[in-house]
Amino acid sequence: MAQCTQVQPDLDFVREIRAAGGETLKKCYQCATCSVACPLSPANNPYPRKEMVWASWGLKDKLMSDVDLWLCHNCGNCADLCPRGARPADLMAAARNMVYKNLTSPSLIGKWMSSIKGLPFLIAIPALLWFFVWAVRSGIKGSWFPRAADGRIVFGEIFYGDYTIDPIFIITFFGALYILYRGTMKLLKRFKPEGSILMLGSIKPWYMHLWDVLVEEVVTHKKFQDCGAGKADRKIGHMAVFYSFVILAAVTAIVAGGHWVGKVIPALDVHTPMHLTFPVKILANIGAVGLFVGLVLMTLRRMKLDPKFQASSFYDCYLLGVIWAVAVTGLLSQLFRLMDCVTWAFSVYYLHLVAVWMLFAYLPWSKLGHFVYRVAALTYVRTIGRR
Ligand code: SF4
Ligand code: SF4
Repeated sequence: MAQCTQVQPDLDFVREIRAAGGETLKKCYQCATCSVACPLSPANNPYPRKEMVWASWGLKDKLMSDVDLWLCHNCGNCADLCPRGARPADLMAAARNMVYKNLTSPSLIGKWMSSIKGLPFLIAIPALLWFFVWAVRSGIKGSWFPRAADGRIVFGEIFYGDYTIDPIFIITFFGALYILYRGTMKLLKRFKPEGSILMLGSIKPWYMHLWDVLVEEVVTHKKFQDCGAGKADRKIGHMAVFYSFVILAAVTAIVAGGHWVGKVIPALDVHTPMHLTFPVKILANIGAVGLFVGLVLMTLRRMKLDPKFQASSFYDCYLLGVIWAVAVTGLLSQLFRLMDCVTWAFSVYYLHLVAVWMLFAYLPWSKLGHFVYRVAALTYVRTIGRR
């Protein structure tokens, strides 16, 4: 006697995923053109048609534990060819957004991150934190905009590295890293291989696969290339932002490391503010220029998207907006300092600290988390024998 499998649709989930960017999913009539069009989809377990089916049936568990969500690079080829305008690329992005929202605690931050209504709360936390630091230090210094003894503008007069910036950012960074680690472990436990793959020969340990992913995919951005020549601006923009972050992270590590090591070995101390011709400063400015180039390319691409095929969600706008805020406030605070505009320099630097804090602290719930979650998924599929 034939067995009947009951499907338990989660209608709240369908509503939620439609609100998160998958509003056109009901237009899908499951023709599978999208899965054929996708240049990254594997032949033995193609996407994104199956995800369209799972989403419209409300199969939350299947979709939220789907490793293929993270293999999609949001190129939009599937959406360009969908005969029904069901925007499968946006559905994949919406499903990832829902993972960001619910993967790690505190879930309140995930909730705030999911809509523009939560933005004031996300801004208020660092705004109050850095305002408190500013108020306390200005009380000690006797001015909101104090100058150093030699008359120069030195941000450390208010936002003193040893007692404010370094401890706050160290706690924030490692806290976010820990939450990200917990989220990644949870995500990996959810992934379940579809069927089984016979693996012949010696089996590599996971860390060797991780290394391969970093070298073959992250460093080269190879998958962006596989998405087609017509999407070249995406690859260049993404790479420019990625490598600028790498450069700026290296500069931050050199400055912070030099500062703390310099307390023991004075010869290694890195004095701030650095002179414009100091090599580390030159590196920082190269990173800043690269960041602007990448941001312009990414923003232009988003502006050119035809909403009939692909649209931008709040997650996309939030991430671009915060990175723009970091870049613009960083550049302007430097300019105002060089122009000796003390009020503007401190005010814009305060905004810069707010934006940088938002970028790091909310990383596990924001689209920036894809960097870690996607690497984990790519590593996972290699460990089960899929490429
Ligand atoms: S999303 Fe479009 S292309 Fe994909 S199965 Fe549905 S109707 Fe077909
Ligand atoms: S957006 Fe690109 S990578 Fe993602 S499913 Fe569509 S075609 Fe494939």
